[in-house]
Amino acid sequence: MHHFATIIIDFDSTLVQVESLEDLAAIALADAPDRQERIEAITELTNQAMAGTLPFDEALSRRMPLLGANREHLSELVRVLKGKYTPSLLRHKDWFQSNSERLYVVSGGFREFIVPVMEPIGFKPEHIFANNFLFDDAGNIVGADADNILSQDDGKTKLLKRLNLPSPRLIIGDGFSDYQLRASGECSAFYVLTENIHRPQVVERADRILSSFDDILAL
Ligand SMILES: [Mg+2]
Repeated sequence: MHHFATIIIDFDSTLVQVESLEDLAAIALADAPDRQERIEAITELTNQAMAGTLPFDEALSRRMPLLGANREHLSELVRVLKGKYTPSLLRHKDWFQSNSERLYVVSGGFREFIVPVMEPIGFKPEHIFANNFLFDDAGNIVGADADNILSQDDGKTKLLKRLNLPSPRLIIGDGFSDYQLRASGECSAFYVLTENIHRPQVVERADRILSSFDDILAL
């Protein structure tokens, strides 16, 4: 662990226990009659993208209209996510704070909620890279900003190429888009975190399996 100059960490199902767009849908669709079907459709698209069977950009654009969310739902989402930090992250808050200079969050999720959720843990806002929501005049979320490179397929690799962060770099995550950083050579190692979810197609490609963040402190 000590020899990695940069440690990149995924957000959904890695730093928090859940996929935040599913929680956002649950908040936004609280009174919708087709709530269950829409949340299931979002979950299915997320799973396909994280397993690598559906391009990330397509999964994202197909999920946005299902959300039915607006700006007002985001503060409730932040409150909910602060109650769903990955348990081992909270056990090692001191380590995350003292390593903040080399820690980065790179996520296909959205800055609008990731920054307020991760800043209290000690992550630097300028080290958090994620998508941006597009809002209409009424404050409804209508999509993801297409100018943000993370909205594209393999966007994490494209972003890392641009940032050129100090090497060697490690990526810790749970999904196929995290593994892609290792496959592209942008990171020299991919450690899969299985504390929240175990995706076989991703785990079999990892250099190391972390059952929790306890394991990185032991390295
Ligand atoms: Mg993830």
